[in-house]
Amino acid sequence: MTDQQELRLSFEFFPPKTEAGKSKLHAVQTELAKINPDFFSVTYGAGGSTRDNTKDTVKSLMASGLSAAPHLSFGGDSEETILPLLQEYKDAGVNRIVALRGDMPSGMGGASQLVYANELVAFIRKHFGEHFHLEVAAYPEIHPEAKSYDDDVNYLKGKFDAGANSAITQYFYNVDAYFYFLEQCDKAGITHPIYPGIMPILNYKNLARFSDACGADIPRWIRKKLESYGDDTQSVQAFGTDLMTDMCDTLLEGGAPGLHFYTMNVTDPTKTIIDNLGLEDSKP
Ligand code: FAD
Repeated sequence: MTDQQELRLSFEFFPPKTEAGKSKLHAVQTELAKINPDFFSVTYGAGGSTRDNTKDTVKSLMASGLSAAPHLSFGGDSEETILPLLQEYKDAGVNRIVALRGDMPSGMGGASQLVYANELVAFIRKHFGEHFHLEVAAYPEIHPEAKSYDDDVNYLKGKFDAGANSAITQYFYNVDAYFYFLEQCDKAGITHPIYPGIMPILNYKNLARFSDACGADIPRWIRKKLESYGDDTQSVQAFGTDLMTDMCDTLLEGGAPGLHFYTMNVTDPTKTIIDNLGLEDSKP
């Protein structure tokens, strides 16, 4: 990617539960808005557990004049619950949705059937035509439940065939996995953009636990380096920020169409990485 004007930048938040969390997020969104990202996305708790909080956060971002994209899954809910929610989003001016299958909250496994993301995409297209730009999830290191590499790529293709516009990846620390995945998607006939998801490193223990669960590999040399810092979070974050700056640089040099940051509701390291990359002035 040589023309920085065309780079897409987006920032992901999770919906805060408390008043303190809300006012902290407001400060973060104010800082990150200065970078002029294309949109902020807001996650949706497993099984729909944050339905109202996600909606409130999206509406609050929109009320601040920012573009917001709610994440959404059926999560055990029926069409009668999801349809009015989508209508409410449309009425509030939302024009982008991150459409997911999601997971069941722990302890509820098997309680009801998860609806695959391609079915949610088709459902939204059926009821709202082309109103929403639909993002879906992609997995350069392959979704943990996928039967095979090729199956996962084909199911991603199924999401595009159902009407999705673009994909955002699960985070990864192996850049080769992303570029190989793009090649395989290309071979499978996928022509839509696939934006890399970037997870800045804040806390090694949390990251290691989460990565095991979602199937993201932390290469041994990175684990070893992070372990060596122990509880010294300042050093963990300094190392992580340099690492992610280099990784984003390689991704953009290699043709990634933009970057999606999992901000964890904090301004740094996301802002520092963007400053290091010289992208803060790239958005018109
Ligand atoms: P799908 O695309 O439906 O795929 C799920 C699994 O089923 C895969 O193994 C796939 O190979 C297989 N599959 C897909 N389609 C079919 C089909 N038609 N028939 C048979 N098998 C199929 N989780 C949350 O709880 N809240 C969030 O807000 C959230 N945001 C996310 C944002 C991004 C960018 C990413 C990458 C992930 C996010 N997740 C979120 C995690 C996500 O919900 C989980 O990874 C979930 O397990 C899969 O969701 P999906 O939409 O990728 O599912």
